[in-house]
Amino acid sequence: MEKIKTQVSQQRHTNTKTKVAVAYGDGIGPEIMKATLNILEAAGADIEPEIIEVGEKVYLSGNSSGIEKKSWEVINKNKIILKAPITTPQGKGYKSLNVTLRKSLGLFANVRPVSALHPYVHTHFPNMDVVIIRENEEDLYAGIEHQQTQDVVQCLKLITRPGCEKIVRYAFEYATLYGRKKVTCMVKDNIMKLTDGLFHNVFKEIAAEYPEIKSESQIIDIGSARLAANPENYDVVVTSNLYGDIVSDIVAEIAGSVGMAGSANVGKNVAMFEAIHGSAPDISGKGIANPSGLINAAVMMLIHIGKVGIANKIKNAWLTTIEQGYHTADIYQEGQSIQKVATSEFADKIIENLGQQPEKLAAIQLDENAGSITIPEYNRPKETQVLVGTDVFINWQGSNPNEIGEALAGLKSYNLKLKMITNRGVKVFPNGMPETYCTDHWRCRFVSNEAITTGSDKTYPSVAFEQILALLSNINEAGFEVIKTENLYEFDGKRGFSLGQGE
Ligand code: NAD
Repeated sequence: MEKIKTQVSQQRHTNTKTKVAVAYGDGIGPEIMKATLNILEAAGADIEPEIIEVGEKVYLSGNSSGIEKKSWEVINKNKIILKAPITTPQGKGYKSLNVTLRKSLGLFANVRPVSALHPYVHTHFPNMDVVIIRENEEDLYAGIEHQQTQDVVQCLKLITRPGCEKIVRYAFEYATLYGRKKVTCMVKDNIMKLTDGLFHNVFKEIAAEYPEIKSESQIIDIGSARLAANPENYDVVVTSNLYGDIVSDIVAEIAGSVGMAGSANVGKNVAMFEAIHGSAPDISGKGIANPSGLINAAVMMLIHIGKVGIANKIKNAWLTTIEQGYHTADIYQEGQSIQKVATSEFADKIIENLGQQPEKLAAIQLDENAGSITIPEYNRPKETQVLVGTDVFINWQGSNPNEIGEALAGLKSYNLKLKMITNRGVKVFPNGMPETYCTDHWRCRFVSNEAITTGSDKTYPSVAFEQILALLSNINEAGFEVIKTENLYEFDGKRGFSLGQGE
């Protein structure tokens, strides 16, 4: 089976200089990047930075993507990016650079390890050690949004089987490689049965292939509440894009400081490493920012490119420095810290400590293969897809569902017949409730009038696309404005659409 190797194999040599696209970013970005690069150099990481211009300056020069063409060339050549945070200018029209980079470069996995450094960094959860693995390309982040009527806007939530398989398998492979014991899946499939249901089903399928790793699933609302209340009970968490965005910030916050955690954005060919925090304009230029987030990101980068020994050395020197009590202002605690240090002084202490092991905090000793995560290429099985009807969305300013319902029920188009109308997902025709609030956005479901009942489920005979075209034409002639359609399909006889509430 062909495999996706999420690593830059040509760069897996410990003794050669590795070219890395480096973005100094905005705000505190240049300060923490300088500190990080100094540590990499002192540790003998043999990194050759090639600077790329991204962020505020590029945005304000009129480039709405925030990245110059030249920078794309450097990224495509080097395949590895170390990026400091950037400032996205306020106002409409600026596209998120992070989303652009993640999606254009296929960086499907966002990996964010967060652990407590008790008692050196204040946290209520001294034993927490959680890795959030967030799907990075799909979900509501597809950015497909439309205003469909005066009252209604929509955002499309796209979840794909290949996307779920990649991220879930990545999570289990990560757990295997790093000696983790449990993977928790967080979804909301009690409500979103098809999209989150797919993520959950794929999780169950893939979890079965890793019997040595415990697996569990939680609904995102109670899951994130429990994660915030008892993070010690979690190990690896895998979830979709939006939920992952939220839970990874919760976890970073409760560990002590947003300045501490690094993250990796990993794809088939390219990977990007960055701190989780932003450009912190409130402390920019003061030389007091904590560079730990970017240092930890750089450690993840070194592991990814196979320089695991250097990664261990830097991480242990960093832990030693924290343990000795040299702390930047954000983590400084009277009685616990011994000295409040500036960004550059903190980096100098880490450099002094290269080769040291922490005495109280657990030292890191990853083996040389720690960065190699290989996952199978998606193999699409053949399924039979049958068209069985259509949902027609209509912009109608009336308020009585029976009026539009009776008008549409009277339309003839081969054997296609109005089955129901919903408004915001709730059935309002036939037999709606007078209390249901209706907007100007009506979803009208047309299926064959000869539904087949098999057990508890209804299936429908296939319809030809021409029937749907004729139906749309009839609706248009009847004076209704069609704003969109969604075809209804069955896949291998299984319904590929949700029922309306009350259907
Ligand atoms: P932020 O993370 O920059 O700052 C939040 C708070 O945390 C501030 O009080 C800040 O001083 C503090 N903080 C952050 N990093 C710190 C560090 N390393 N050391 C000490 N204190 C630190 O979040 P924000 O203020 O919401 O955003 C500022 C800008 O950053 C915005 O323009 C936002 O769009 C951008 N941003 C960029 C990224 C990225 O490039 N990956 C991520 C998040 C936000």
